[in-house]
Amino acid sequence: MAADQKSPVAPLLEVIDLKTHFPIRTGVFSRVSGHVYAVDGVSINLREGETLGLVGESGSGKSTLGKSIMRLVEPTSGEIKISGVAITGLNKRDMFVHRRQVQMVFQDPYSSLNPRIPVGKVVAEALHIHGIASGVAADEMVRELFRRVGLRAAQTRNYANEFSGGQRQRVGIARALALNPKLIIADEPVSALDVSVQAQVINLFMDLQQELGLSYLFIAHDLAVVAQVCHRIAVMYLGKIIEVANRDELFKAPQHPYTQALLASIPIPNPEIKPAADRVLQGDIPSPSDPPKGCRFHTRCPLAETRCRTEEPPFKEGSPGHWVACHLH
Ligand code: SF4
Repeated sequence: MAADQKSPVAPLLEVIDLKTHFPIRTGVFSRVSGHVYAVDGVSINLREGETLGLVGESGSGKSTLGKSIMRLVEPTSGEIKISGVAITGLNKRDMFVHRRQVQMVFQDPYSSLNPRIPVGKVVAEALHIHGIASGVAADEMVRELFRRVGLRAAQTRNYANEFSGGQRQRVGIARALALNPKLIIADEPVSALDVSVQAQVINLFMDLQQELGLSYLFIAHDLAVVAQVCHRIAVMYLGKIIEVANRDELFKAPQHPYTQALLASIPIPNPEIKPAADRVLQGDIPSPSDPPKGCRFHTRCPLAETRCRTEEPPFKEGSPGHWVACHLH
């Protein structure tokens, strides 16, 4: 069941039992010898004006989930609905129309900005492709977008290499805003930035949400960053969501041992204070091509019981809005 399905208003985004599996091909005949179960039965909801954080270690499937929602990678099964409309079965033409509603901000906008074209032209291109504006009208819209994200209108004429990392991320946000989306999927948007610049970009995300009523799916491995921006947080481990709760609840009373370990790993300014040894994550995340049976976290869980090795824990709502997949809850 999708976490938080009881909301009376249809959510902006509904992801229902989504799976994205990648075939592993080997040998001269490229036979399929297995699969990478990157996203393996994920259900989440996101309301209008809400920010849902998606956290987990690298290899947990967060970015693949974001790209699957954008259909930049094709899901294997499951359903994605935007404002109640299923987009999973749409053909390329219909998807083109729907893509305007959902835009993505990447960790490294530099790789998606053509270094030989002024950044203003790159942003204007999106307006042109979607038939929103062209020529002088598009140029003026781009200048306005630049002002809105804290850049100068004159910087539309600059090239990507003339911007700092933080400024480039502002260009990436301007490009995402160009199509007037309802939802922005931000994939590690500040993790490559210095801490002081991170704070500025996070403030920009929050200001834009206030002004434009945007919703965000905010993907990050850093819980401290997510805590600043998100209303609710979903924790992902090895292709599955294992806990969802509102931000304050999750930080105050995390239920899943993995979430507890993630929280224990947030650096504390006082070196005298150390997290409890049994809360520190041991070992690496297993391969998503061969996930452990039962509870996927059992190979690293300090509280694992015999049934954890064979029975997958159900995803249950322990208290209102707080969902967890663990046999102990
Ligand atoms: Fe740990 Fe078992 Fe809970 Fe999984 S189900 S998190 S292994 S106690």
